Order: sequence, then C-alpha cells, then structure tokens
Amino acid sequence: MFGRWFGQRDWCCEAFRALHEARYDRDLFVFVRPPGWAMNCPAPTFWLAFRSVRYQDRTRPVQGLPPDRPLTISTSRRILRCPWCGVELERHYQKQWEKLFDPAIFQEFELPVTNECNKQEQDDLH
Ligand SMILES: [Zn+2]
Repeated sequence: MFGRWFGQRDWCCEAFRALHEARYDRDLFVFVRPPGWAMNCPAPTFWLAFRSVRYQDRTRPVQGLPPDRPLTISTSRRILRCPWCGVELERHYQKQWEKLFDPAIFQEFELPVTNECNKQEQDDLH
C-alpha cells in the first residue's frame, strides 16, 4: 500500500520490506513514527510491533477467555537497527521515511509513556 512507491533498492533488505507489508495482519510488523512523536525525538523512529488479531478485528471484543485472564492484543518496541541486516534505520530511511508512514497504524499505536528516544540507553542493550 504505502510502500508501493519504494523501489526494490530503497529497502534495506527484503525481510524489512516483508515486515512493513505485514502491518495489517496477525503478525510481527514494523512501522515508523514521524519526528517529534516519541518523546519529542527529533528524528523518525522505527517500531517493531505485534498484533494478535487482524487490523480490522482490533476493536472487536475477544470472547472465550475468562474475564480474569489479561490478554495483550498488540505491543510495540522501538528498534534502532534492522533486525535482519543490521542497518541503522534512522540513517538508511532518513530521506524516505515518509513513504513508510502509515497514519492508520500510527493512530492505532498510541505513544509510549517511557522515554524511548534515549539512544544511549537503547544502544546499551546490544
Ligand atoms: Zn534490513
């Protein structure tokens, strides 16, 4: 959909492209937030996310589980590098991140409460 303006060589790797295109499925996927939307981070931020139901089913109630058993429908974590090829995402997509921006997914995943813009802290995890 939004990735159709991307040429084959614009992607850092095929696995990242597949993750972006899976963003409406019950699967892992990646999405981008514009600059200023992750605790005022001045650069676009990239997020690895998971949703256990399809996008169109996300607001339908889940039935069949006991009411006292919490269930995570979706979650996301910021990533700095592509999990497959290792490229630094902010740098690789700095001129074309807007082509990856999907307003529907951006709206679905509300802002985190933690300071995800702290690169030093994130880098320490590697
Ligand atoms: Zn990659």
